[in-house]
Amino acid sequence: MPVVRYRKVVLLGYRSVGKTSLAHQFMEGKFLEDYDPTVENTYSKIMTLGKDEFHLHLEDTAGQDEYSILPYSLVIGVHGYVLVYSVTSLHSFQIIESLYQKLHEVHGKIRLPVVLVGNKADLSLEREVQAVEGKKLAESWGAIYMESSARKNQMTHAVFTKIIQEISRVENSYGQK
Ligand code: GDP
Repeated sequence: MPVVRYRKVVLLGYRSVGKTSLAHQFMEGKFLEDYDPTVENTYSKIMTLGKDEFHLHLEDTAGQDEYSILPYSLVIGVHGYVLVYSVTSLHSFQIIESLYQKLHEVHGKIRLPVVLVGNKADLSLEREVQAVEGKKLAESWGAIYMESSARKNQMTHAVFTKIIQEISRVENSYGQK
């Protein structure tokens, strides 16, 4: 029997960037056109990656801005973060930078497993943030960068697979298993 490793992952980002849609698409395989933006949800899923099994506990959040204070529940016991902005909103991209700084302040010097996601990539005519900018920001953190579309179900699975892999990679670099 493989060991099932528990992973707590939090979705952070400005409101309306598609955090809930990504979580829904991944967990339920559905895109919801109208969803109450105030709802905060937690999801649970067993994921098998190669020979390893993971119990993913995913926390969706209502959204943050540059003034938000991260509650302890989004810090303590969290293994990794998926930081989401919308490629159609430069403002949501700018918020991500301040959120990352906050994460570093609360977590200290520990290397944080992070996947940076530019969502709504299907809306090419409304794009305000180029892929190269997202990539550059993620690289400056040593993090993974991806573009997704929750609506078209593009890269939604990959986003959550990547954060699980990134958590293991960072753990292994600290010599733990
Ligand atoms: P959240 O506040 O970050 O959780 O954002 P939601 O998941 O509630 O999505 C906000 C709005 O953007 C909703 O109207 C969604 O239908 C829409 N949306 C979310 N993801 C996508 C996407 O990938 N493409 C498009 N075109 N719309 C999206």
